[in-house]
Amino acid sequence: MLAVTDIAKRFGTVRAVDGVTLNVAQGQVLAIVGESGCGKSTLGRLALRLIEPDRGTIHFQGEDLGKLSPRALRARRRDMQLIFQDPFGSLDPRMTVEQAVAEPLILHNIVPRAQVRDRVADMLTRVGLRPELATRWPHEFSGGQRQRIAIARALASGPKLVIGDEPVSALDVSVQAQVVNLLQDLIRDLGLTFILISHDLGVVRHIADRVAVMYLGRIVEEGSTAAIFTAPRHPYTRALLAAVPGQGGAAAPLEGDVPSPSNPPPGCHFHTRCRFAQLRCRVESPALEAGVACHFADSLPPPAAMAEAEPG
Ligand code: SF4
Ligand code: MG
Repeated sequence: MLAVTDIAKRFGTVRAVDGVTLNVAQGQVLAIVGESGCGKSTLGRLALRLIEPDRGTIHFQGEDLGKLSPRALRARRRDMQLIFQDPFGSLDPRMTVEQAVAEPLILHNIVPRAQVRDRVADMLTRVGLRPELATRWPHEFSGGQRQRIAIARALASGPKLVIGDEPVSALDVSVQAQVVNLLQDLIRDLGLTFILISHDLGVVRHIADRVAVMYLGRIVEEGSTAAIFTAPRHPYTRALLAAVPGQGGAAAPLEGDVPSPSNPPPGCHFHTRCRFAQLRCRVESPALEAGVACHFADSLPPPAAMAEAEPG
């Protein structure tokens, strides 16, 4: 469905994404995890070509998005949608719910005009909102309801690939699970291919099939959700998991801040925080091989206690 190859993007001196290769199969849910500032959101926007990469290619359903004209790319947008983190910022306050959800339907000519209203009602029902609410304004809704509206809008054009950038992290904890469950149902019922950008490993474990772990613009580990959570190999992945209640044990949680992406440490970017770092790590950057980018992945002590930890 999506093949991102050696993609990179700088903003001024900041190397936000620094050579990432990713493949997402049809119907798969891939989570991209990491601390804030690691490049997850930029990677998501690059994958949809909402921003231009400095290098690398993005193939969507076999088609090189970089070779499409602006017009052809706009037409392709119906198949690729983004759900934003902030449901307060992502809905236009001057549009009713109906106008917001109808806009992509009209823009991409998805249904005849006469059927737009029915389609909006159908989308609202799908996201658990009463169709009668269509005439209301965004400010009349709670954060959770607004995110449902934003999801209805994102799914209205019938996209095949959807990226959710921290889709529940701005919501009250009490409504996060409901929206996560909604997303999970929609992914299954609509057969969506989904990329979940999240720092919330509980949510990731709940809905992802595969996980890619990012650190300072690079993927440091990638694998099935089961493998990542029960047998993490990269010291950074282990430390991230150690910070999750009920998941820790073998690894010490992360200490210190993420170094500046303007001036990442040489060699392995993680060496300033890695308790296994050796001299080689300071000079030589490890490649992502067999799912892990660490010179010593095969000789680290096994994270034994983690295999037993089963969070609820
Ligand atoms: Fe740690 Fe070295 Fe592995 Fe980097 S390459 S994660 S510094 S052991
Ligand atoms: Mg972000």
